[in-house]
Amino acid sequence: MKRSLWLLTAVIFFISCQRNAITGRKQFTILVPEAEAQSMALGQYKEFINTNKVIPAGNKDADMVKRVGNRIINGINTYYKSKGLSKELEGYSWEVNLVEDKQINAWCMPGGKIVVYTGILPVTQNESALAIVMGHEIAHALAKHGSERMSQGLVEQGLGLGLALALSKKPAVTQEIFSTAYGVTTNAVIMPAFSRSHELEADRFGLMFSALAGYDPREAIPFWERMSKIGGANNTPSFMRTHPTDEVRIAELQKIMDETVNNYFKKNINN
Ligand SMILES: [Zn+2]
Repeated sequence: MKRSLWLLTAVIFFISCQRNAITGRKQFTILVPEAEAQSMALGQYKEFINTNKVIPAGNKDADMVKRVGNRIINGINTYYKSKGLSKELEGYSWEVNLVEDKQINAWCMPGGKIVVYTGILPVTQNESALAIVMGHEIAHALAKHGSERMSQGLVEQGLGLGLALALSKKPAVTQEIFSTAYGVTTNAVIMPAFSRSHELEADRFGLMFSALAGYDPREAIPFWERMSKIGGANNTPSFMRTHPTDEVRIAELQKIMDETVNNYFKKNINN
């Protein structure tokens, strides 16, 4: 490609970046408009729910997952409203489910479809740590990390014309890019981790969301320490393949802990 064409591509890339409402960071998501991401997510979510065992209400773990999810959602609604950002949650139709599956995993799709796998409960061990996990996954969705990953995936597969066209031209490939981008795939051999910047961003906002819901954010440290002790080379849980644990993560969480406790948790402790 000629140099001028490269330059033009770079300029188009730059101007097509959109600023995320909550993180304030410019990101390349234009190929995956939010409404289209939500619509595709809904289809994928329905298929997942129909082909997996959802634990019904009345089960104490299922009730706990729903309770934690609803408290976080309420906290987010209040926070977004206070910042004049409620419009950002348009199209969100939250659903929270616990699914019987021994994998250590959880995810939140665009539009607010949240699934927690029973396999992660022995690691979370308590409600506050569960809130840390769910807050983190919801933060990935609200920060549009999946849409960013999906936009990159479409470009890499030569489907840079956008999600709708990609779906009509190559539905199978597009669905695979989707599952990988949003961390929904359960048995894929190739499941790239979220980038470090995405992880730290999701940690930061997830910590705030769980604190806003009245859950002690300090539980994040022992939770990630427990995560780091799990898994070996041959049996790395899917959650750890997408969310590698290391000292940097824990150190970064510790840096924002006091501020999160003082500014958000202490004010919402009696929610
Ligand atoms: Zn993550």
